[in-house]
Amino acid sequence: MATFIVLLGPPGVGKGTQAEILADTTKLAHVSSGDLFRENIKNQTELGKLAKSYLDKGDLVPDDLTISMIRDRLNRPDCEAGAILDGFPRTPAQADALEMMLAEFKGQVDVVPYITAAESILVVRASGRWTCRAQGHIYHQKFNQPKQAGICDIDGSELYQREDDKVETVTKRIRVYLEQTMPLVEYYRQRDKLVEVNGAQAVEQVTKDLLSALKK
Ligand code: ADP
Ligand code: ADP
Repeated sequence: MATFIVLLGPPGVGKGTQAEILADTTKLAHVSSGDLFRENIKNQTELGKLAKSYLDKGDLVPDDLTISMIRDRLNRPDCEAGAILDGFPRTPAQADALEMMLAEFKGQVDVVPYITAAESILVVRASGRWTCRAQGHIYHQKFNQPKQAGICDIDGSELYQREDDKVETVTKRIRVYLEQTMPLVEYYRQRDKLVEVNGAQAVEQVTKDLLSALKK
């Protein structure tokens, strides 16, 4: 049976960082909705053109566009054994759609680690984030520096600062998260899938806590 893990938590808490590590350890695919949108914007696809203004403003992309993008992604062969979902779902309608999609593959959401940290930590993390141009590998100017400034350790591509990681837009995204995504905490708690993880710790400790959450 395939395994699907949903990483839930506010912008900047460390979902992408942990998803990369967990994908490596579990051999599950890493599915990041934000990376998929940024790839579409970079390649100037129709979806990219529709999504761009939402990302720029820090708003959520409409559910129908987001759901169909994720459906296509989960249908790719590397998701046959399952996936680590990072950034999706972000609304109750997306969570309902995910349940229906996974039922088609005879799967379900197995566990939802809910990673938390104080807002002040989120802002410092997101506003110091450096992202790799080629594949979205994640660094931080203080907490997770690349070996060579401005260059990705893994694929040698350029690192850039996301336009939506400016402090004002990060603050807006946290507000959007509280309004539109927080209801998912109760959604998954009621379904007995939620496991809380303290994201305000060092990367290695968060990984340890996540791995023990996955065993449950
Ligand atoms: P973060 O690292 O802050 O969690 P992401 O890279 O996941 O940010 O998302 C960046 C932007 O992409 C969001 O602000 C939003 O505009 C869009 N986005 C990503 N995932 C979703 C989603 N599930 N639903 C709607 N919009 C999304
Ligand atoms: P999210 O996907 O939830 O938006 P990221 O994984 O992209 O979060 O992390 C946001 C920023 O914080 C990145 O610059 C990352 O290097 C850094 N970071 C992630 N986890 C930690 C941690 N436990 N301690 C310090 N910095 C972290």
